[in-house]
Amino acid sequence: MSNGKKIMAIVLSCILILSFLGTAGCTTAGEDRESDTEQMATETQANEVSIADGKYEGAGEGLNGEIRVAVTVENQKIKTVEIVSHSETAGISDAAFERIPEDIVKYQSVALDAVAGATYSSNGILEAARKALLQAGFTEAQITAEVDKEEKEEKEEETELAADVVVIGSGGAGMSAATAALQEGSTVIVLEKMPTYGGNTIVAGSGYNCADYERQSQYEMTAAQRETIESYLEMEAENSWMQEWQKEIRQDLEEYDAQGSTYVYDSPALHAIMTWIGGDEEANPELVDMLCRNAADSYEWLTQLGAEWVDGIEAGNGALWQRSHTATTKYGTSGGCFVEPQKEAFDELGGQMYLEYKAEELIEENGRIVGVKGVTGSGNEFTAMASQGVVLATGGFAANVEMRQKYNTIWPDLGESVPTTNPSSSTGDGIVMAEAVGANLVDMEYIQMVASGDPFITPIITNVAFVNSQGERFVREDGRRDEICEAVLEQPGQYFYYIMDTHTTVDLLDGMTIHGFVLDDIVDGEDIIKADTLEELAEQMGIDPDTLTNTVAEFNSYVDAGSGDPLGRATFGSRIDAGPYYANRAYANVHYCMGGVEIDTQARVIDNEGNVIPGLYAAGEVTGGIHGTNRLGGNSIADIITFGRIAGQNAAAEQRNIANES
Ligand SMILES: Cc1cc2nc3c(=O)[nH]c(=O)nc-3n(C[C@H](O)[C@H](O)[C@H](O)COP(=O)(O)OP(=O)(O)OC[C@H]3O[C@@H](n4cnc5c(N)ncnc54)[C@H](O)[C@@H]3O)c2cc1C
Repeated sequence: MSNGKKIMAIVLSCILILSFLGTAGCTTAGEDRESDTEQMATETQANEVSIADGKYEGAGEGLNGEIRVAVTVENQKIKTVEIVSHSETAGISDAAFERIPEDIVKYQSVALDAVAGATYSSNGILEAARKALLQAGFTEAQITAEVDKEEKEEKEEETELAADVVVIGSGGAGMSAATAALQEGSTVIVLEKMPTYGGNTIVAGSGYNCADYERQSQYEMTAAQRETIESYLEMEAENSWMQEWQKEIRQDLEEYDAQGSTYVYDSPALHAIMTWIGGDEEANPELVDMLCRNAADSYEWLTQLGAEWVDGIEAGNGALWQRSHTATTKYGTSGGCFVEPQKEAFDELGGQMYLEYKAEELIEENGRIVGVKGVTGSGNEFTAMASQGVVLATGGFAANVEMRQKYNTIWPDLGESVPTTNPSSSTGDGIVMAEAVGANLVDMEYIQMVASGDPFITPIITNVAFVNSQGERFVREDGRRDEICEAVLEQPGQYFYYIMDTHTTVDLLDGMTIHGFVLDDIVDGEDIIKADTLEELAEQMGIDPDTLTNTVAEFNSYVDAGSGDPLGRATFGSRIDAGPYYANRAYANVHYCMGGVEIDTQARVIDNEGNVIPGLYAAGEVTGGIHGTNRLGGNSIADIITFGRIAGQNAAAEQRNIANES
């Protein structure tokens, strides 16, 4: 703290104490401050009498809307701070809701730092508490006394950690790796730089892609979908992987046709072809094959651990096929289903998680990665040694503008003004750490944008039409994300709307958003608009009602026919005809990094010369090579669980390998 700030803090603290003691006068650290202080003390004296016991409410602006806080004042002290209502995202904002109210009471001040990763929620709570306290009669000076938390809190922290397996990052990939390693009998430490666990994954949409005969056989395949499969079979096979996938699909379809089947066909081979072609044949087909053949097994594993799913199967935004399983909001958010089941098992199996432990450097000994160095949230340096392996699961870099700009060659601009769907934790740390020990980086220029709303209702597009600010469709909703975003960036104002009816909002989502909010509670007439009829919806959106009703009528005619859309849509669900109707305003956001650390099918990190780096594994968005130029929506969750498990199992197997070597 600077000297000036220190003096001011002493002055303000003095005033605060005096006001509580009801005493006038104060000796300050500096002559020149004395008159100011006297004046403030006089004000304080005048005001102190008006600080009345009671409960006061105030409101502040969080990330998703208003946060209301109730403050109880007793004997001129802040006794309690309670959150009355909010629409912040569970998981990300949890730490702010736990810490900020507690700290306001502890330090009797709202001049507190925001909790890392939950800045908007923190500031919303602080603002709401401030307003409530002003109502109680406190002055600004009394409640904004600077707090030097570092001086007050000398945290005792463990700084020399050790386990069989050290996992860096607590998102879906990290928690899957950690749990899988524990299930194999290893001891495991998870290091997480943020105050809460879950990363990007806990705020993810709901989509998990894998072929699932039981669910898909309940739906009719459209003529356009059949044509899509045929088009893949007609393609010239670029390599033996493609040949094998085509062969398997041909064999399946012979049987399918012989049985007179009409349901939505799918298989790991079709999933693999769509993933590979959907990424412009740039991915490593071996990794694609591994992902698609294991996605169903990983889904079962996650379900056995506790994940729950909505009935049916949908096409997620950019999924290209009806194979997205929709997670419920059992754990608060849909993304909770991709982290919390593993976390529960992790705790039961004795895993140790260290929050606010930021990994900064991998430790290498004799060509093997044996641990990691870093720094804690309170500034202490730590080391975490791993006797078998270190798993990098630090996610992507969509929130790191410098890295986006460094690697982007595809989009006109990915600078500060371009929004991202990712939390602030996605800064690419693992990529930097791995590169420093010689890891090869692949596909770094492929950065995905996605067209999504803020607030975000759902990524599922099965029963959704996209319309621009003039009420017209402009792109096939079931197309590739890069093509959709290119089209969005060409629309007036560079925004559009998801148009939904109760087939989506009630039948699929049960009135909730993927982030666990009651949809009707967050209708604001701008980003989320609701109306009983399409005409009323159009009026609220500021567009011509006839245009919107005609657009939806045309869309419904393609749904009825299962084909014929001039924009090329092939996946159709229900007509949009069951009000109330909703419009969710959406933009192109930086969303996902296809590039990252090169791995093999065993999730081992590969160096610049094509060799495995002993002791180092990676899984999840920190890796590259699985999705090519364009990831299919719903494929990341399948990827992080699948490769997370593979990384954890193989790191745990190192125990035996090392023992065998010695
Ligand atoms: C809004 C949204 C919706 C999405 N919806 C879907 C969907 O429906 N289907 C789908 O397939 N994909 C979806 N995705 C993409 C998917 O969620 C992510 O790609 C995936 O969750 C990444 O998982 P991960 O475990 O690799 O990384 P993360 O979940 O980001 O976890 C990485 C963790 O590592 C921590 N970390 C980073 N650096 C360090 C360090 N130096 N030291 C210690 N810890 C560190 C981070 O804080 C974080 O907790 C969505 C993404 C977003 C943002």
